[in-house]
Amino acid sequence: MGRCLGPVCRQCRREGMKLFLKGLRCETAKCPIEKQSRNKVPGMHNWRRGRNTDYGVRLREKQKVKRYYGVLEKQFRIYFDQATKAVNTGEALLCILERRLDNVVYKMNFTDSRRDARQLINHGHIYVNGTRVDVASFLVKIGDKVTIGKGENTQKMIKAKIEAIAGSPTQNWIEVNSATPEGTVVAFPSREDVQIPVEEHLIVEFCSK
Ligand code: SF4
Repeated sequence: MGRCLGPVCRQCRREGMKLFLKGLRCETAKCPIEKQSRNKVPGMHNWRRGRNTDYGVRLREKQKVKRYYGVLEKQFRIYFDQATKAVNTGEALLCILERRLDNVVYKMNFTDSRRDARQLINHGHIYVNGTRVDVASFLVKIGDKVTIGKGENTQKMIKAKIEAIAGSPTQNWIEVNSATPEGTVVAFPSREDVQIPVEEHLIVEFCSK
């Protein structure tokens, strides 16, 4: 699986907003977006960047969503093609991204970032309906039950994470039993469940060209 190997916070600085890529650290004062001196567009000649063109605005919107969900261009285009079959392409695209297994594991509070969730999945610790799934892009559907492997260390680690993140709200479309721990998908995510501020129509305009 391809992934971005560069500095993670740089991605947030480029988009000018918190993308919550580093888990608990994102909530602390160490986040560069919180510091006036470090909240700048990365690069040597950032001061030269002028007003964004229409193309630039649309490009940034797409990049923001890709980075937020940790998806590379090729996979994103596949999702977009799938979304064009729906009545509202923009909403359908966001809902597909929400249904990714790494996002679901994160939203169940099993990890404190999508990146950690991806690692857990790739290492074979996540089961869907009793079958091990090691593909982070797996799309869940209604009724799917997500559980953790029986390994003692994994169970301990996840329970510790759940305790650490205790109180964080889960979403309406997901039910979580933190004692087991396991989660069930009870509905498809809707537009309101997407937490990042995004104008999806700009992405549709960009990708439709
Ligand atoms: Fe880094 Fe998280 Fe802040 Fe983004 S939100 S800049 S990943 S600490």
